[in-house]
Amino acid sequence: MPLTRFAPSPTGYLHLGHAYSALLAAESSAFLLRIEDIDPVRCKPEFTDAIFEDLHWLGLTWPEPVRRQSQHLADYAATLDRLRSMGLVYPCFCTRGEIEREAQSAVHAPHALGLLYPGTCRSLSERERAEKLERRFAANWRLDVGAALRLTGSLFWHDRAKGRVEARPEIFGDVVLARKDVATSYHLSVTVDDHVQGISLVTRGEDLFTSTHIHRLLQALLGYETPEYFHHALLKDAAGRRYAKRDKSVTLRHLREQGKTAQEIVGEVFCR
Ligand code: GLU
Repeated sequence: MPLTRFAPSPTGYLHLGHAYSALLAAESSAFLLRIEDIDPVRCKPEFTDAIFEDLHWLGLTWPEPVRRQSQHLADYAATLDRLRSMGLVYPCFCTRGEIEREAQSAVHAPHALGLLYPGTCRSLSERERAEKLERRFAANWRLDVGAALRLTGSLFWHDRAKGRVEARPEIFGDVVLARKDVATSYHLSVTVDDHVQGISLVTRGEDLFTSTHIHRLLQALLGYETPEYFHHALLKDAAGRRYAKRDKSVTLRHLREQGKTAQEIVGEVFCR
């Protein structure tokens, strides 16, 4: 039986879409809960408590202790060091405004996935980098995706919904692996944790499908095994819209207060 996980970020109360994802994960696999709380501004302890409460109410159980990413920042820093010693990450001192201006003046069309980093700091010399770091300029640490791909060659993963998928991490440009303010990122911490926890099936919504291009590359660089993936379709409301944390009326907490039972919620999310 595969080992999968449900890995919410405690930035709000869980809603029907989360219930669907968690129940789907637990349905046919051994199941872990992980709390992805690396963002100290948006993550709140009361939302973490509510995640435990709401999932228990739905009837889900998982082994303790639950991994909380905020307690493992040293693991992510050590992994970033490994990539640094391979010459695959570099400090980027650009501000968002500078990146926008540079991208606008570039010949490339605007990028479908948002602002594509033009690679300005990739060409700084070791000396320039050292000088800036010494003067305590805050840096984001970026993955040199071109150099990384030259090392790994073509990469693939298997997705239960989409079959064999070729990883194309270059579509993101040189992604940030550690931020100025938080010394890690979603991409780095999720890849490390899935490895450390021995996850063999990553179950998550299809909104995170494109992130897997990066995760697959990191796995290859770090010598991790690649789990199987299941990027499931997102649950939508009657009007065809995705559920959002800001809509209080669809939170599990609110529905419970309105008198809904856990069984009704299970029935509802699987009958959509
Ligand atoms: N923490 C992420 C979120 O709440 C999910 C991460 C994942 O499943 O890979 O959107």
